[in-house]
Amino acid sequence: MSHAWVGGSTRQWRRIRRAVLDRDQWICQLCGKPINPQLHNPHPQSAQVHHAEGKAYGDDPAQLQAAHRLCNQQAGDPTRAPDPAPRPMTRW
Ligand SMILES: [Zn+2]
Repeated sequence: MSHAWVGGSTRQWRRIRRAVLDRDQWICQLCGKPINPQLHNPHPQSAQVHHAEGKAYGDDPAQLQAAHRLCNQQAGDPTRAPDPAPRPMTRW
């Protein structure tokens, strides 16, 4: 038996997403405001699930949090950040 990633990933993801939104009570964890379940993609205030540690960490619900689409976009994915992390540097 091989992994059932391809066929089941979308359905699985919907379940995870729903569970995360319910757990966070449809409150955006990035701005602290409620998310309207009536709104859908691509509405900027629609519900999305934010990867707190970046997508590289996978779909572990512990790493996921409810967020507005817009807030999620602004936060971005830390593992894909285009600009390098600020380097703490001591000037001599
Ligand atoms: Zn928000």
